[in-house]
Amino acid sequence: MAATGGERAADFAGDADGFERLWTPHRMVYIDGADKPADDTPRQCPFCAIPARGDEDGLVVARGDLAYVVLNLYPYNPGHLMAVPYRHVAGYPELTTAELAEVGAMTQGAIRVLRATSAPAGFNLGVNQGAVGGAGIAAHLHQHVVPRWQGDANFMPIVAGTKPVPQLLGETRDRLAAAWAEHAEVEAVTTC
Ligand SMILES: [Zn+2]
Repeated sequence: MAATGGERAADFAGDADGFERLWTPHRMVYIDGADKPADDTPRQCPFCAIPARGDEDGLVVARGDLAYVVLNLYPYNPGHLMAVPYRHVAGYPELTTAELAEVGAMTQGAIRVLRATSAPAGFNLGVNQGAVGGAGIAAHLHQHVVPRWQGDANFMPIVAGTKPVPQLLGETRDRLAAAWAEHAEVEAVTTC
């Protein structure tokens, strides 16, 4: 084969085929364990560190009194959000009533904002408890809000591996944060 300066797929070894390639190097970072805490302490915890960062830097969409909403750095779908209590707590039963209410209210707000901005056909809501339950950061509870569209992959590929994400995270955060004030309708829950 003649040498060329480019990196055309046809120049690589092997037979060309009809498949499109979907390159998702951000998933490899995840698989390699980037951002995984070395232990379960708050000092190592990304969910404890995020609120101290700026909204754009931390991908924070909204901040409440007891919980905040952040874009998932490794999204299953575009607009994949998480409602997270500020307090470093691993288990759902360990949340106070007020924290439970605000995580719930922020989850409702996230759904309203995603409906207003990108009209998903459905949602998956969920908390993965413990590493064996699928939690990437098991020590700090977080509620996933995953928008779903007709014709996107079914849930098994979503939980099992790679997923194309067509929108850059920063752009998504800007759009959702701007829509939050108008559409989230989250009431204060500190009266609990
Ligand atoms: Zn934490």
